Amino acid sequence: MRKDFLPFSKPSVSEDAIADVCDSIRSGWLAMGPKTVDFEKKFAECVDAKHAVAVNSATAGLHLAVMAVAKSGDEVITTPMTFASTVNAIIYSGAVPVLVDIDPVTFNIDPKKIEEKITAKTKAIIPVHFAGRPCDMDAIEAIAQKYDLAIIEDSAHALGASYHGKKIGSCKAARHIAVFSFHPTKNITTGEGGMITTNDEKAADQMSVQRQNGMDKGAWNRFGAKGKSHYDIFIPGLKYQMMDMQAAIGRDQLKYLSEFNSRRTQIVARYNKELAGLNGVVLPAAVEDNTVHSWHIYTILLDEDKLGFSRDEFMEKMKEYNIGTAYHYQALHLFTAYGEITGLKKGDLPIAEKVGEQIVSLPLFPAMTDADVEDVVAAVKSICK
Ligand SMILES: *Cc1c(COP(=O)(O)O)cnc(C)c1O
Repeated sequence: MRKDFLPFSKPSVSEDAIADVCDSIRSGWLAMGPKTVDFEKKFAECVDAKHAVAVNSATAGLHLAVMAVAKSGDEVITTPMTFASTVNAIIYSGAVPVLVDIDPVTFNIDPKKIEEKITAKTKAIIPVHFAGRPCDMDAIEAIAQKYDLAIIEDSAHALGASYHGKKIGSCKAARHIAVFSFHPTKNITTGEGGMITTNDEKAADQMSVQRQNGMDKGAWNRFGAKGKSHYDIFIPGLKYQMMDMQAAIGRDQLKYLSEFNSRRTQIVARYNKELAGLNGVVLPAAVEDNTVHSWHIYTILLDEDKLGFSRDEFMEKMKEYNIGTAYHYQALHLFTAYGEITGLKKGDLPIAEKVGEQIVSLPLFPAMTDADVEDVVAAVKSICK
């Protein structure tokens, strides 16, 4: 039994990043500034996008993205197997969230079920690359094209993932936007933080302006030696920009992204090998051909009928082994607020509901040692034997 508690996730931040944060503090430039602009440039290169707009969370990024493609009363289609943030962004844009059930194998939105939910009011689809597994973007893009819809990829799990040779975030089509999260559990972190990417210049400009109360692009520099002190406002905005203190961490984290993701992939391979064949435990499906999975989380399904205990009981038992787990996600329409807003009840999205009852995330983060992985494997095996 472990002496120390193994959390389900933990960030790895370098001494260089810490020094660069201190540099921001000492320089007096704490809020958005040149480091944020530099991080945006490096991030855009990293995901092969033309524009990157740094924000203070993915939630903020999703809100700006939805406002860029939909207005009050429009409908936006998304998945119930996501964090609340995805639908909150739709709701606070004045739009109506429409939930479509998931594929039972990938847990991503089922493209075959999207068309029946499209109406004259539908303006956008928000696919979520669950756990870092790319959605079936060929099918989703074909639907978007047929009905003239925008696409916002909630890529909070998917930094470093790619689909059919294209990086998630490269967003080649018009009115195509991606949003990443840098919350400490995600593939890279800035504390809180997020990034929007797109090739759509008009959308990028609007989101960039709206993240700083409607002030134009260069306004962050208005107190600098070469800054303009006057600005006009053409479109009201919110206070969503990233600080240089955050960007200092983020631009350093980017250097480690491929190292982090290969360690995640190694750990996943170990889990897949060691946990195979346990009765009542379903491991993640094989990664689809010609895609790269970014393994933000490693989820398993627990069949209560076969195991004799529930997912919640499993999580408690893991705690007895001093190992943390996490729950991603309860199907969204089963939360009181979203049930009321969408009008959906238990039984309406059966696959997401079933997955939501059985799913649990095991520890997965780059700094996990082989011994940590062994501890998780041993605990799961002894609980589920
Ligand atoms: C983490 C997450 C978000 C929100 O990210 P924040 O940066 O915490 O706002 C949105 N969508 C999904 C799928 C997430 O996992």
